[in-house]
Amino acid sequence: MKVDSPFLLFLATLVFGMLAVPGVAQTHVVREGETFYAIARKHGVSVERLMAHNGFRDPLKLQVGKALKIPPEEVKVATKTTRLEPKPLMRKSLRVIIDAGHGGKDRGAVWGGVHEADLNLKVALRVEESLKKLGYSVTMTRRSDAFVSLSQRAEVTNRCRNGIFISIHFNASLHTSVKGAETFYVGEKGAFLARSIQEKLVSGLKVRNRGCRHRNFAVLHQTACPAVLVECGFISNPSERARCSTPWYQATVAQAIVQGVQRYYQNH
Ligand SMILES: [Zn+2]
Repeated sequence: MKVDSPFLLFLATLVFGMLAVPGVAQTHVVREGETFYAIARKHGVSVERLMAHNGFRDPLKLQVGKALKIPPEEVKVATKTTRLEPKPLMRKSLRVIIDAGHGGKDRGAVWGGVHEADLNLKVALRVEESLKKLGYSVTMTRRSDAFVSLSQRAEVTNRCRNGIFISIHFNASLHTSVKGAETFYVGEKGAFLARSIQEKLVSGLKVRNRGCRHRNFAVLHQTACPAVLVECGFISNPSERARCSTPWYQATVAQAIVQGVQRYYQNH
């Protein structure tokens, strides 16, 4: 089929005139029967702006073939009501007591130059930051390398209303092949929290699941609120110790604890 070039030119003009490219000046070639009203509506502008933009006062003076310049989109000025404010954080009623195990003169387990007390604190600080961002009230039994006795930890915890207590530890065994994560608890609500955390620990870290167990650790049985003790991994096992020492592992543990808290909060 032979296509003559004026036809192509006409087609190109038509297509170009109809394309709405934001930010690019557009023109519209007036066709037979078109009015200012129809053209303005097609391009989403007002008749007044379209006419003024092209220096027209009389709409009847519009002629076929005239290339009209389409005015750019109106820039909407933000008013007080439309300005984006950061969404106010909904304070949650639950208080989470985060207990980094050991500290100060009590190093906890020490294997291959790795101190349990340091790992516990690193994870605890990450958990604190994430929970606060989510609107939880957080109490820390320690925020530095300080010695805090078990009864002091329980006292701080028992001063809190509507709290849950989470003690963070890393494990060790003379049997260096032993590895994995486990969570201990007291009370029925503690069991739910322990299961929620343990599940996320195992799926996030891909570690051996040593399960959840009831155990009356001193730090747990002195607390009046639901309480769990998380053993995040064995630093006596060389390969697990290497993993436990990485920021990724510590961040994943913290995330699992936070997700466990979220699940607990949604169900209690
Ligand atoms: Zn410990």
